[in-house]
Amino acid sequence: MIPYGKQDVAAEEIDAVVEILKAERLTQGPVISQFEEAVAAYCGARHAIAVSNGTAALHVAAMAIDIKSGDEGITSPNTFLASANCLLFCRAIPRFADIDPVTNCIDPDKIKKSITPRTRVIIPIDFAGHPCEMETIWELALENNLSVIEDAAHAIGTSWADHQGDWHKAGACSHSHLTIFSFHPVKTITAGEGGMILTNDPGLAAKCRLLRNHGITRKPTKFTHQNSAIFDKQFPPPWYYEMHTLGYNYRITDFQCALGLAQMERLDQFVTRRREIWTQYSSALEGIEGFQIPVEREATRSAWHLYAAQADERDELLKFLHEKGIGAHAMYIPIHLQPYYQKHFSYEVGDFPYAEAYFKKSIILPLYPSLTDAQAEYITNQVKTYYQN
Ligand SMILES: *Cc1c(COP(=O)(O)O)cnc(C)c1O
Repeated sequence: MIPYGKQDVAAEEIDAVVEILKAERLTQGPVISQFEEAVAAYCGARHAIAVSNGTAALHVAAMAIDIKSGDEGITSPNTFLASANCLLFCRAIPRFADIDPVTNCIDPDKIKKSITPRTRVIIPIDFAGHPCEMETIWELALENNLSVIEDAAHAIGTSWADHQGDWHKAGACSHSHLTIFSFHPVKTITAGEGGMILTNDPGLAAKCRLLRNHGITRKPTKFTHQNSAIFDKQFPPPWYYEMHTLGYNYRITDFQCALGLAQMERLDQFVTRRREIWTQYSSALEGIEGFQIPVEREATRSAWHLYAAQADERDELLKFLHEKGIGAHAMYIPIHLQPYYQKHFSYEVGDFPYAEAYFKKSIILPLYPSLTDAQAEYITNQVKTYYQN
């Protein structure tokens, strides 16, 4: 079976991991900041904080902006659960704004209509790698005094041009307070599991670092303890630390970061290959009645995490492709239709019609760098065969 997504780990990347396994520190060592610096430099952001996975990155980002019980956040129904669950982790209320049927990303006009006095944050998702309308979302956020956490789990390597014609990379945080990535093996680069939070705000960065490690600080300049019975205030002993906030163990290991760091070297190659396959699919499948190819907006260079097409009779086509050894997929089940969300927030079918209509037809074709031209051709030929019969 050809899977819908797959990691590409080279021999030298395995060597890089093994080297760290033999080194002194498996975790909390120097490779973590090397990986953080590489990702920050690539994206053009000032700060990067590596964590155990993309979900942890979203949770830390939400805590860093002080999302609290009763606050509301607006996100897309067309995303992985974690984009909305990070609000639930903070006892906040996830609200949804429907998608733009062209890009399947959150529609800024719908966000505008969903803002209430309790709204604190917008969490847009660069669906399939395609950037959201970040400029419009950013303006909306500034006007309404809201934070923006961009879920760019699909979009490391994506770039887009603003209205002035200036290009921005996803993760630059040019139009977000915080942006997150995931390094799960299906994502564009992998660390096995892993996540990253990027920001240009040194205060938010410092908070994220605290939150990923139990809220603990070991920096003497940060110590607040007034009780010198514990230690001589002038000379805090080396074993001393303070807990300043309730954090978690969301640390990532050095050997995971060794893999992520090595993969960064090939990120541009991965993106190029993903775009080639995307183009190959689109030129082969364009114009089939009942099958809609995904589009890329002008002034956009998507890293294309997914080839997200739409098909009438989607389930029949999926079944046909599975029989042919093609692990095509469908995503995302709109979050508001999940039993948990229906039970707790009484969302109903019909609440977000574009997300529902998209999902009904969603078909994700295999897309990963090691997919060969011949495999891609086999896949498009099978799709065409289905429609010829
Ligand atoms: C994968 C993904 C996440 C979560 O990342 P993990 O590393 O699996 O925790 C969050 N949001 C989106 C859109 C994703 O695709």
